[in-house]
Amino acid sequence: MFKRYDRLAIDLPKPKFADPNAAAAVQELLGGRFGEMSTLNNYMYQSFNFRQRKKLKPFYDIVASITAEEFGHVELVSHTINLCLDRVTFPGDPDTAPLQPGKDARMSYHYIATAQTSFPVDSQGSPWRGDYVVSSGNIVFDMLHNFFLECGARTHKMRVYEMTSHPTAREMIGYLLVRGGTHIIAYAKALEILTGADVTKMLPIPNLDNRAFETAVKYENKGLSNILYTWSETDYRDIDKIWNGPNPMTGEPLQVIIGAPEGAPMTDLEDRPEEFAPGVSYEDFMEIARRLQRNAGL
Ligand code: MN
Ligand code: MN
Repeated sequence: MFKRYDRLAIDLPKPKFADPNAAAAVQELLGGRFGEMSTLNNYMYQSFNFRQRKKLKPFYDIVASITAEEFGHVELVSHTINLCLDRVTFPGDPDTAPLQPGKDARMSYHYIATAQTSFPVDSQGSPWRGDYVVSSGNIVFDMLHNFFLECGARTHKMRVYEMTSHPTAREMIGYLLVRGGTHIIAYAKALEILTGADVTKMLPIPNLDNRAFETAVKYENKGLSNILYTWSETDYRDIDKIWNGPNPMTGEPLQVIIGAPEGAPMTDLEDRPEEFAPGVSYEDFMEIARRLQRNAGL
């Protein structure tokens, strides 16, 4: 089972300008084949379906704990899309076509279906698909797939970074390049323990350091590329059987932290009357409060 915190992985900047087509590009990092919905669901199903989890506990623990981190990445990318879409349109009478910017935006679903928020689809609006999940039951194949999946995720993040200068999108991508780098190494080390093959010699894929991306530098400097979290106060501690020794990219010592990172405040969105969202006015809210008080006999 899962425990939830009303926190975001990092503090996302809230710029005064929107970039609706950046939001459309960032959708690929959420609902694309190599997006966070895919990493989450691949590791989640591999952990649900794991055979002999006691005998192979370090491998189970690493897949299960990274699942929890990916849940937070789905959340972070979704909030990034929401902030890229903040202040695209403004309230107005229907006859003034207040949603007109949505007509020329790349992704019309953002205006028609979700009131200018995220959606588990890719950058072309195609739904995220369950058959992006590989849960073969063969542990070497699954670890190799996860290594490949994280390298694909890194490639797409780097390309979306190069497509947009929106500060929220770049902050999120800088952080996720660093965290994804730890997952690439985790699966590489799991493969080495299982088979003796050192796939870290292929890294980085693509062949460009995280530090080439401005927003990744501070997360690298904080040492976040050396840390894996257990995401649990009590469980998944055998990840240290895999996550130990020097970081193959930098030589710095790898470290396991029990529990979850502190996180940052959750973002909130203003109302969008032109989208009828949330559809509860201040007057409605006061009437609801009065009714609740009456019902409680106050
Ligand atoms: Mn991720
Ligand atoms: Mn990952």
